[in-house]
Parts: sequence; structure tokens; C-alpha cells
Amino acid sequence: MNDFEKQIAEGGREGLHSLKVETLQVNLGLRCFQQCNHCHIEASPQRKEMMEWSTMQLVLEAAKKVECQLVDLTGGAPEINPYFRRFVAALCQEGHAVQVRTNLTVLLEPHMGEMPEFLRKHKVRLVASMPCYLEENVRAQRGPGAYEKSVAAIRILNGLGYGSDPGLPLNLVYNPGGPFLPPPQSALEEDYRRELGQRFGIGFSHLLTITNMPLGRFRNELDRQNQRESYLRLLRQSFNPQTVSGLMCRNQLSVGWDGTLYDCDFNLALGLSVNHGAPDHIENFKPEDLRMRRIVTGDHCFGCTAGAGSSCGGALDMAQREDRDLSSLATQAR
Ligand code: SF4
Ligand code: SF4
Repeated sequence: MNDFEKQIAEGGREGLHSLKVETLQVNLGLRCFQQCNHCHIEASPQRKEMMEWSTMQLVLEAAKKVECQLVDLTGGAPEINPYFRRFVAALCQEGHAVQVRTNLTVLLEPHMGEMPEFLRKHKVRLVASMPCYLEENVRAQRGPGAYEKSVAAIRILNGLGYGSDPGLPLNLVYNPGGPFLPPPQSALEEDYRRELGQRFGIGFSHLLTITNMPLGRFRNELDRQNQRESYLRLLRQSFNPQTVSGLMCRNQLSVGWDGTLYDCDFNLALGLSVNHGAPDHIENFKPEDLRMRRIVTGDHCFGCTAGAGSSCGGALDMAQREDRDLSSLATQAR
């Protein structure tokens, strides 16, 4: 039993177990035109890993078998996978709600001109990285030009109804600029709405706050600053037992670009595939074998249970979750 499992055992749980798979998160590849210094997956323009169409076909079959509420596409920059549009169209054809995690700047690439309209047409939900409403903080995390390009991309998306039409959600993602926990999600959302509205006249649906995980490039940065131990201590000391029942790994499964199955995107970053007897590749996907599976955990899991909690859907504080958005979308999609 590792330290995380010892901690949750104090609440009467022997290991962490999943429920039904409601969301399939699919990593379409590790290539990205950016190279952000907080990227847990260490994506960059140099990465070549990319999901093949044959693997996407297996994901389509799995999504049908499990009747998942949402297929959440991530990367890298998922839009640059050559089969991206074909895959999204096929998922929609099958009646699945689709979400894309976009870095926004990719939408301004020369060959992406029709992408925003494609996303609108397929009613794809968007989750977009925007780590601050201040340029200097975005530049520090994501590099020069990222802020201006992100604002320009949001403006294009707003023009199509994203962020105002309830059927076209555009959620922005904040993550801290250093080794500290995010501030309360709802208060920060108000700041974002006011600042982005006043400065640029742009809008969005909700703000999601995500804790930096001690993985990938963020971990390398912690090591450079000799802060890894103190950050891990902060995460452990901030353990909030109320977050455990809402941990995303309990209702979600991640599919790597090569079809390997993971309990979450963070385990994917660490190369920790599904274990404890459950199938670990999309070729062997069986809903009954993945339900109630024991989840692979480690020290990094304290990043999900610190403070208000954290997941790919933002804080885990139940008052702040947007389950109602998700369930209404799943209903629309069926
Ligand atoms: S954080 Fe997102 S935008 Fe930045 S390098 Fe990683 S995948 Fe690309
Ligand atoms: S890191 Fe992954 S496995 Fe661990 S608690 Fe978070 S979502 Fe679950």
C-alpha cells in the first residue's frame, strides 16, 4: 500500500476503485506546436507520436460498447492528428458527445482555417488552456505570442456562438504559474470574465481550475528550483477527503495514442497503464472488466485531492462541478 492508499484507507477505503466508464479520454498524439513549461505530457513540435486510424476504429467500438457520455479528445494538440476530422465526424455519427482540449493557438495555423466552423457544425465542446488573464503570466508559461493568439482564437470562436450558445460551451482552464494551489474557482472565474470582457470584449462559459501535477516539464522545473519535495509536502498536507468520491479516474478511462489504457491522463504521462487484472489495451476493451477495477495510484494522486481537488474538469468541490452541463449534453447527443 502506497502513501496515497494509506491516506484514503483512513477514510475506510481499501484502494481506489472505479465505477462505470462514463468518459473516454483519448490522447490523439504528443505533437504540439507549443512547448509550455507546465506540460505534464511533455508535448512539443518535435514529438512524432500520433494515434493511427486503426486505433481510432477500436476506440469507436469501445465508445459504443460502453455507451459513454462523453469522448474527450486531448494531446498534444489533437487537431493536428491527420484523422482528427474523420474521427470527430464518426463519433458524432454514432451519437457521442465530443469534447476537444484545444490550446487555441493551433486554430490560427494556416491549414486550420475551417477548423472552428467544423467544430461548431459538430457541436464539439471546447476546453481551452488560458492560464491567466494577464499577458505576462501566459507568456511565462506558454511562450511569446501565445496570449495574443489565444485572444484572437477566442474572438473567432465567440463569433460562431462559442461561449454564449448553451450548445457550444467554451470552458477556459487556469493552472497556477508555480508550486502553489489554485485559488477558488468561482471567484477566479469572475475575475477572468471581467478582465477578458473589459480588455478584449471576449467571453467564455466557465473557468476550470487545475492543480499542476508534479509530472513532466512541471516536475523538471520543480527539480531545477529544488522545490519538488516542498510541493509534494504541500499537496499531501492539503489532502481533502471530500474530493475522493469525485476523482475523475472513478468514471473515466484514458486511451493513449498507441491504444494503451490508463486510469487517467496523469498515469498516462507516467506510463502507468491500467493494472490489477483489468485489460490494458483498447484491443481487449470489455466494459465489464473495466468497471470496478482497482485504480493504479501513486504520490502524484495527492495533486487531485489537494484543497478543492482537481481534475480535467476543474475543481472537485461538488458545488463547483458542472455535471448538469455534461448530462444535458449527453441527452442531446442521443
Ligand atoms: S500544455 Fe498543452 S499547449 Fe502546452 S505543450 Fe502541452 S499539450 Fe501543448
Ligand atoms: S492522478 Fe489519476 S489515478 Fe491518481 S487520483 Fe488523480 S485521476 Fe485518480
